[in-house]
Amino acid sequence: PDTVRLLSSSQVITSVVNVVKELMENSLDAGASSIDIKLENYGLDRIEVRDNGLGIKAADTPVMAVRHFTSKICSHEDLERLETYGFRGEALGSICAVAEVSVITKTKEDDISTHYTLNFTGGIVSQKPSHLGQGTTVSVLKLFKNLPVRRQYYSSTKKCKEEVKKVQDLLTAYAIIKPDLRLTLVHNKIVLEGFFPKPGADHSSTSSSNPDKTFIFINNRPVHHKEIMKLLRQHYTAQYPDDSARNRYPTLMLKVTVPPSSVDVNLTPDKTQVLLQDKEAVLTAVEQLIHEKCPSPSS
Ligand code: ADP
Ligand code: MG
Repeated sequence: PDTVRLLSSSQVITSVVNVVKELMENSLDAGASSIDIKLENYGLDRIEVRDNGLGIKAADTPVMAVRHFTSKICSHEDLERLETYGFRGEALGSICAVAEVSVITKTKEDDISTHYTLNFTGGIVSQKPSHLGQGTTVSVLKLFKNLPVRRQYYSSTKKCKEEVKKVQDLLTAYAIIKPDLRLTLVHNKIVLEGFFPKPGADHSSTSSSNPDKTFIFINNRPVHHKEIMKLLRQHYTAQYPDDSARNRYPTLMLKVTVPPSSVDVNLTPDKTQVLLQDKEAVLTAVEQLIHEKCPSPSS
């Protein structure tokens, strides 16, 4: 069955631009007025589509990427007055068969967003709270990782550039047909380096309530960044309530490298505060790094 799934999925999901199109259409179907698309390594390492749409209801999340699940039609008659792009319930499930997929989503009713990691068959492997606002973010990592010939084919410089050009053309087309839609495309990489020791390891000597023990650098500049700081603290508070109750945090170091054009350091005369053009992306990446480097004791 795995082979069948891989084969049929590989016919539905054929290229980077194809993934972007499917995800964007889901965002539009969800009523999004803003869609942010991000590619890394021409989309081969990461395709991320973030929207501010309705989100996915908690009850639907276990089946959202199960083949042929769709929340868009309930009856046969619905097919005849179809006003959505999707109705087959094929895209998300097929993408799961050819890449690593995660979904962060929040509806108006939810207090916070939830980050779901999906497996090959579209089932949920794990879920955890996340910090994003209403809407849905789908991340597709390592596209065609299990279709080496196809991955190789799209890896040539010429093909890569062609795909990004096609994505740009696709976005232009949507921008024309939907003039009120806010659309962005970013093709680059945020580089994060961090030092997150396990709490408890260095209690007496280095831990303290001194906020200066958290070092944050953006493009090699030591900065104060309230939201990044909050995210780091939040993680330790959730995972190590005993330590944080005593206001003990270990020494943390986080280095963020982004394209120089996407930061504004001239907010304050001492330049210790920065304005990040793509703050949400940086926060998401930081969150991911924390979870990778410092997984919760239970997982
Ligand atoms: P289809 O679009 O044909 O319904 P998909 O596989 O593309 O099938 O998506 C499956 C289901 O997941 C959708 O019907 C919808 O309920 C949910 N979904 C996927 N992406 C989004 C999104 N960006 N916002 C809200 N719901 C989504
Ligand atoms: Mg769809």
